[in-house]
Amino acid sequence: MRRRASICPAPVLDAMVVQVLEGSPRPLSAYHIADRLEGRRGAAQVASVYRSIARLTEAGRVERVETLSAYRLSERRTGVLLVCEQCGMTRTLAMPAMRMVVTAEILASGFGLGRLVIEALGRCAQCADGTPLP
Ligand SMILES: [Zn+2]
Repeated sequence: MRRRASICPAPVLDAMVVQVLEGSPRPLSAYHIADRLEGRRGAAQVASVYRSIARLTEAGRVERVETLSAYRLSERRTGVLLVCEQCGMTRTLAMPAMRMVVTAEILASGFGLGRLVIEALGRCAQCADGTPLP
């Protein structure tokens, strides 16, 4: 049973969310993050986790994986986010020139670009070899 309200100060909750994400080899949804915080002192409701994620995203520490509706620690690199559909591994492949070309083409079309998200779905090298990560 979840607590009715978070008693955890924002900086403490943010540190706990980062710790949970550091301990996960795969992106986690806000619900999974909240589940992993259960039992810890000051465990948070999902709404508090979402607010924490918003703060951490604004600070550049966490990023959303759109295709998984989940969050991971930011690699602080721009490029294409590779998402393994088999094991859930994610990794940013730096491709700054490609992003600049895509951005320029979008802006030239007159579209008001808010945020550019480029994610590639497939299988990581370990899964392609038949040895998925644990
Ligand atoms: Zn994989």
